Amino acid sequence: MAPRDRNRARQAFTLASAASILALWIALGPVGAWGDSLLNLVWIGAIVAIVVGITRLPRGARGPWILIDIALVAFLAAAALRSRYHALGDLRPDRSLVPDMAAFPAYLMLCTGLAMLVRRHQRGVAGAIDAMLDALVTGLATLATLCVLVMQPALGTHATSLGTKLSMVAYIPFSAMLLVLACRMASAGDTRSRGWSHVASVLAMAMVLVGDVIFALTDSGLVDIPARKVMLPYAFSFAAIIFCALHPSFVELSAPTRRDTPPPSGVRIATVGLSLVLPAFVAVLEPSASLGSRLILAGLVVSLATVAAWRVLRALLASSRSERRLRHMLYHDALTGDLNRAGLLDSLDHLAPTGPLTVAQLGIDRFKLVNDTFGHDVGDRLLLQVSARLRELSGPDDLVARLGGDVFAVITDREAGPEAGVRAGERLRTAMRAPFDVDGIELLTTVGVGVSEVEPGDDPQHVLRETDSAMHRAKRDGGDAVSQFEPCLLTEAAEWLAIEHDLRHAVDRDEMRVYFQPIVGTDTRRVRGFEALMRWEHPERGLVSPLDFIPVAEESGSINVIGAWIMAESLQRLAALRGAAERWRNLYVSVNVSARQLRDPGFTQVLRSSLHRARLPGDALLLELTESVLAEDDSSVGRILREISAMGVRIAIDDFGTGYSSLAYIQRYPIDVLKIDRAFVTPLHTVDDRAGAMVGGIVAMARSLGVSTIAEGVETQRQRDIVAQLGCDHIQGYLYSKPVPTDQALESASEIDAKAPPSRHDAWPGALTVPLGRT
Ligand code: C2E
Ligand code: CA
Ligand code: CA
Repeated sequence: MAPRDRNRARQAFTLASAASILALWIALGPVGAWGDSLLNLVWIGAIVAIVVGITRLPRGARGPWILIDIALVAFLAAAALRSRYHALGDLRPDRSLVPDMAAFPAYLMLCTGLAMLVRRHQRGVAGAIDAMLDALVTGLATLATLCVLVMQPALGTHATSLGTKLSMVAYIPFSAMLLVLACRMASAGDTRSRGWSHVASVLAMAMVLVGDVIFALTDSGLVDIPARKVMLPYAFSFAAIIFCALHPSFVELSAPTRRDTPPPSGVRIATVGLSLVLPAFVAVLEPSASLGSRLILAGLVVSLATVAAWRVLRALLASSRSERRLRHMLYHDALTGDLNRAGLLDSLDHLAPTGPLTVAQLGIDRFKLVNDTFGHDVGDRLLLQVSARLRELSGPDDLVARLGGDVFAVITDREAGPEAGVRAGERLRTAMRAPFDVDGIELLTTVGVGVSEVEPGDDPQHVLRETDSAMHRAKRDGGDAVSQFEPCLLTEAAEWLAIEHDLRHAVDRDEMRVYFQPIVGTDTRRVRGFEALMRWEHPERGLVSPLDFIPVAEESGSINVIGAWIMAESLQRLAALRGAAERWRNLYVSVNVSARQLRDPGFTQVLRSSLHRARLPGDALLLELTESVLAEDDSSVGRILREISAMGVRIAIDDFGTGYSSLAYIQRYPIDVLKIDRAFVTPLHTVDDRAGAMVGGIVAMARSLGVSTIAEGVETQRQRDIVAQLGCDHIQGYLYSKPVPTDQALESASEIDAKAPPSRHDAWPGALTVPLGRT
């Protein structure tokens, strides 16, 4: 709350409290003749407070309050007249009706003003009509009760003129109207959305109602209460008005609320229930009613029944509507309106196909990337377009469902002929390759599709499991593929899930290990650095190969945590190795980085803090990226790589030659090293066979660009000699050493170095540069 508002709230509270205390004192304390003047002071206070409140309102919101304020002035005049003519409780036939002449219009204005206020406040709000009907039921029931308990005795008991009688009872319908408005206001919004002015307004109305009942009873001589005590509830009402009008929430009260009226509370239901049975009791209590009042009562009860019936009808309609909506929600996807998983299973259960069906399940490849890059709004709109395209593609009897996230399913009649499922899947796959235009952003998507076929009577749950595992296989190999279900996939999928689950805790449970494999300089035959390779010591599975868990970690996202761990761990280990002896102090470590890690906004920070904690310079680290990372047409890759390069960290393309090898990457990105894949090294027999030509070509090209090379997977002396002859700068492979636990790395490196011929390079081991150097 702003300081000014806080101030206003405090003032409102202080003034309203003062008014209440004053009112109590006037009614109950030893106050003399000027008590009436004091009471009028509170009254005028309320009138002034409303004027102050009105000035704070925008022009359009002032109408109701102007009416209410004029009503208060008119009431004040009526009260003055009433005390001047001593009309209260005067039952003589010639009692003056002058005060009533002022009071009736005042009441009319008050009710109109309040009705306008309620209407304005509750305009267009859901549940408003029901709340109004409930309030009407209460008002009508109360009116019927007051008719019998107050109007009837007042009209019947005293032998006074009809004018006097009517002036005594004519306020009661107004009170009932006021009650309706008070109930309506009380049921608006929920506790949190009601401002203090709202509460005070309901309180003020309630106090007027109490006052009216006491007034009517006193006026008609049914009870005998001194005039000042009769005025006490009104005085409280004025105090509430003062608070209501001065409190900062007065502005909200006078403006349309956007809060829906909540479903009936317990109190509201109890009130309506009680109201519905009340007339029955009243009728029983007063069997001696005159024909006239019985007619009035009958009219009231009929109105009450009509309103109640209307209300019940609305409630029934609403409940059947909400049941239908609930059923729809249960079986349909909220975003696309397609069937959801439950809906699809239900439809499959009830489908009576004549022949086998094809079930295709598609998942959008790298959908998370869309969300991460463009925001969930764009992601949602892409899903909507995918859904629309799927519906366009499918026939009238086909089913389209969204199974969750970026996964959809399409069920069609199976065509005749072999490979029909795969053909259907291919159609979907190619259709999805056409770009989507989401708010001017052109999104190129691919999907992984899993297909399976269902015979009538197959278990739908089981079918979805089949397509799911087929889809996962299609996505696992990079996506944009169709895969037909085979039984072996189910065990594979279960395995995948189990690994995914266990991986989540692998770092916490200290199950990850890093192994080092030496990388040897071709010229010096000494160890220059190590490649860090991850191992997972699973409590039950034993040592798990990264080939089995890295793809899972990449898909589930746990690669970010695991990758950060291996980064920090490898650098720590390297720092220890470097410190072990002077000749090791230039060793570097080469760490594999997945595409997903590189895209993680926190990645460079991970690098920075790992280097910092290990107290290592950037050039102690080489990052191995696969070509697929660079092939992604994503400008952020270049930005991140340049940022990394600026830290002194070097970048290698791993498995070079297996992917979309392109010279362009080397020119476009700050690449320092090419790691020539084992696939080129294994078949090497001579320098000038095909494989030799390939490796020679890569090396020559790399050299010309100032990029150094590492030959991977060198297992034999012969392979070593050939790659050395072809000009590879570094060699990595089982020939020198398998990857070993880091505590054996020095031992392994020492063994390798011991076999190396002594040379002039001994003074400068470890530097990873090529003679030409990159410019
Ligand atoms: P990679 O990056 O190509 O790593 C080289 C793989 O070849 C290693 O397999 C290594 O043990 C093996 N290797 C090395 N020399 C020879 C040899 O002379 N002959 C043969 N046959 N194999 C050799 P490993 O350790 O099983 O790792 C497999 C793959 O898992 C790695 O391929 C890499 O893509 C991935 N990987 C391993 N650790 C990590 C990691 O920390 N992060 C990420 N993102 N991927 C990792
Ligand atoms: Ca590697
Ligand atoms: Ca490799």
